[in-house]
This record gives sequence, structure tokens and C-alpha cells, in this order.
Amino acid sequence: AQNDRQAFQRINDLTVEYYRSVLEHSPAGAVARKYLEKRTATGEIAAAYQLGYASDRSDGLVQHLKANGADLEKALKLGIIRKSDRGWYDLFRSRLMFPICDPKGNTIAFAGRVLDASLPKYINSPESPLYHKSSVLFGINMALPAIRSENSVIIVEGYFDHLALFRAGIRNVVATCGTALTASHAALLKRHAAKVFTLFDSDTAGRKATIRSMELFLEQRLPAYVITLPAGDDPDSFLASNTVEDFRSRQTKARPAFDFFVRSLLAATPADSVDNKVRVIDELAPRFRKIADPVERDLYEKEICRLMAIAPHAFRKRLGGMDLTAR
Ligand code: ATP
Ligand code: MN
Ligand code: MN
Ligand code: MN
Repeated sequence: AQNDRQAFQRINDLTVEYYRSVLEHSPAGAVARKYLEKRTATGEIAAAYQLGYASDRSDGLVQHLKANGADLEKALKLGIIRKSDRGWYDLFRSRLMFPICDPKGNTIAFAGRVLDASLPKYINSPESPLYHKSSVLFGINMALPAIRSENSVIIVEGYFDHLALFRAGIRNVVATCGTALTASHAALLKRHAAKVFTLFDSDTAGRKATIRSMELFLEQRLPAYVITLPAGDDPDSFLASNTVEDFRSRQTKARPAFDFFVRSLLAATPADSVDNKVRVIDELAPRFRKIADPVERDLYEKEICRLMAIAPHAFRKRLGGMDLTAR
């Protein structure tokens, strides 16, 4: 098994090397070099993250692996090449390549982005013996020292969001990469930081992800804060037209996740009728029950009752007669 692991690792290393050389040196890579320039991810950043390019050639990676004596069946298991009646071919074509690393910096998978507006925008290599999506966070290898020294971590959605913050000198940042945050992500972060900030895109999907992730952080008892951006922005687009200080000031104003949740619920369903109040309480209840700290529970209960003009005993009854003093 150890030998297998080493063989898989070597294949990924050869793959990184191949895509890097296409990006850096081949005429086919010019379009990707230009794209990275436009997105200000050139030079040092591209090198530090080992960014690469998969050209439109159908078997460039296959040939590179073959020439280096790699076992193609193993590369097939990693999902980076495939087999048909007509032979072996590459998974990634005409895509900017992001190696995805484990915390130690070993490449365990790849993501590829198109350079135009075609869909799907990103594809990932599949789950494999090295890659278990639910526990991987992009950028963790680069971010760990800063996560530890700041004792906090900022969670973003995308590759370019991570790169934009990192480039701006904000280095305690990891990306979920489209998969919803999982319990194992939360557990991993809890091992290294006392506090998390979510910084998801300012759109419907991002707000949903914010609230889902809050539930996990409540379960992990990991204090979570929400940094918000102007509507329609993501961290990358925000930093393209604002300064780091603008970002820091938003971070200073980050709200506790539960507070953000209550307020977005009330913004969506104003507590202006009995029906609405009952609906809001029923939405709140399952999350409220996850608040572990008795002081926090008490304070949130008071706040909720105040915002909705309801009596605490009624709120408790609706929650299911829960005893707020025990736990
Ligand atoms: P970009 O800035 O490059 O246009 P983005 O990061 O802003 O992309 P989003 O649509 O906000 O893209 O998605 C966030 C993240 O989700 C992406 O960075 C990527 O990791 C992941 N993702 C998005 N679309 C897909 C997809 N079709 N398949 C797999 N992952 C995806
Ligand atoms: Mn998004
Ligand atoms: Mn985005
Ligand atoms: Mn983006």
C-alpha cells in the first residue's frame, strides 16, 4: 500500500511538471499566460501554486507519463487520464490547471478552469485513493503557518478567491472549492484555529453556504464570524476594485454567524404577523438548539425575543419545552 501511494504520488508530481511546462514554455500555453496576467496571478503566485495549463492536445499527459515510465493503470485510478477503444486520452483539455494539495503540500488532485465562458467552468479529478473531497481544503498547505500564528482562518469558495487574498498578504485563508463545507473540514480547522471567518460569495448560493456552515461550526463549538461583501462580489472581484484596508475594515465588522443568521431570516421574513413569527421561530429552532454555550444561548434568546417582540416563555415552549439551564 505504501508503494502504491508512492507510485500515485509520483504520477501526480509528473502531472504537475507536465502542465507547468506547457504553461511556462509552450506556444500553446500563451493563451493561459495571458489569462493569468488578466487575473493577476502570474510569476511568483503561479510558481508557488504550481499552476499549469492543459492544452487542447488529447494525449499530452498520457505521452508524458508513458515517457517517464509511469503505470497508466494507476493514472487511470487517479482519474487524470481515461481509456477508450481508441486508446488512452487526457481528462483535462484547454484548461488552466490547479494542483490540489494536502496539508503537507503533496498534490492529491487537480482542478481545471476553462479560459472562456464555456461550461462547466471548473472540473475536478474524481475521488481517488489520494483524494477524498470531503476533507480537502484548497490552499491549506500554503495557509497553515498563518492559520496557526493568527489562530484564525478565513474560508472562501474559490481558487481565485484564495489567491487574491494570499496575494494581498492575507494568508490564513482556505477554499472549499464548490463542495459544501463538511463536518470533517470543520474538524480539521478546529485543530488549528480558535476562530473562523466565512467569506462566501455575496449571492444566494453564498448566503446558503454561510448558514449551512454555521450549523457545522455550532456543532464543533468553533466560533464563527461572517464577513460580508457588496452584493454580487466575491473576494477576488472585491479585491480587484478595493484595497486591503477596505477588506480589513469589513473583517473588523464581521458578525457572529448566528447573529447573521437571525438577521437574514428576519430580513427575508419580517416578524410583522403572528404567522411570520411562528415561521421564523420554527426556522431558528433547530439551529438555536445547537448553541452549546449557555451564556450565548441566553443572550441569543433575549435578542430573538426582543427583535420579534415575543415573551421568552413562549419562545421556549415553541422550541419544545427545552430547559435552557441544563446542558
Ligand atoms: P472564477 O472567479 O474563476 O470565475 P469562482 O471561484 O468565482 O470562479 P464560483 O462559481 O463562485 O466560481 O464557484 C466557486 C468555486 O466552486 C470555484 O472556484 C470552484 O472551486 C467550484 N466550482 C464552481 N463551478 C464548478 C463546477 N462546475 N464543477 C466543480 N467545481 C466548481
Ligand atoms: Mn460562487
Ligand atoms: Mn465566486
Ligand atoms: Mn470569482
